[in-house]
Amino acid sequence: MDLKKTIIEVFKDVNSIKEEGALASYIPELANVNAKKFGVHISTLSGMNFGLGNFEEKFSIQSISKVLSLCLAYQMLSGELWNRVGVEPSGTAFNSLTQLEKDRGIPRNPFINAGALVIADILLSNLADPKRDLLTFIRGLSGNQDVNYSSKIASSEKSIGYRNVALCNFIKCFGNIKNEPEEVLDFYFDLCSIELSCQDLSALFLFLANNGKTIQGNKQILLPSKTKRINALMQTCGFYDESGEFAFKVGLPGKSGVGGGIIAIHPGQYAIAVWSPQLNAKGNSYKGMKFLEEFTTLSQLSIF
Ligand code: GLN
Repeated sequence: MDLKKTIIEVFKDVNSIKEEGALASYIPELANVNAKKFGVHISTLSGMNFGLGNFEEKFSIQSISKVLSLCLAYQMLSGELWNRVGVEPSGTAFNSLTQLEKDRGIPRNPFINAGALVIADILLSNLADPKRDLLTFIRGLSGNQDVNYSSKIASSEKSIGYRNVALCNFIKCFGNIKNEPEEVLDFYFDLCSIELSCQDLSALFLFLANNGKTIQGNKQILLPSKTKRINALMQTCGFYDESGEFAFKVGLPGKSGVGGGIIAIHPGQYAIAVWSPQLNAKGNSYKGMKFLEEFTTLSQLSIF
């Protein structure tokens, strides 16, 4: 299978389909992104790196960073993590409040906003300087020392972050946020604001295809048993109430963000990142989903 040829073919096909969806303009700064951007980059365990389109351009990774904050928390803690956050798909939108009341402040999973706020709280409790330590973790994984937060995007999101403020306060009233909500929210907005390119993302996430070990440096980031669980969570919860659809059509563990990025992992094979900022009704990249569906169909490289 010539993966480069497949990517070129699928990129051309998907690039020519009519644009659908909308920018995540509820975050004012994200309304300024050029909707036409489209990039893809693959990194394989056999050492192939290949990108097309705007694959070197940095964009706001938004909820993709929730996988990274979870990995950092999971490095430090084990089973006790799952007393604070569940491992079930929510079947609701990423910013939904409805289940929290019934579930008494225990979010369904770490990838909905409620769950990511609890993970941010755990990092605040366990790290000396969580903002710096998360960045060091991400820079180390990507091998790119230029990775950074965007204060412009973080403050833009903070200016309209009423739902996340509500989520955080609601969880706090059940006792599942230990720090001050304001601090947790600031860290949450920061971690959503991280900017990476498709090239950075596929290189960075390759350790999840490699039993938790980096390719460069051969460093064990997460135990193989924990790595499997992160991939399982991405498979079942990575696309909010579209997770079933993504498993059905694409067949890979993955994670989306409202910046229009998607990362997908094939354990034992590759990591692939796609970016196209226009989102479907569920908040996932319209073209990104299409690209990955056609890519795993033609390459026959899904996990099923
Ligand atoms: N920062 C965004 C929010 O909290 C992240 C959402 C996402 O990427 N799905 O609304």
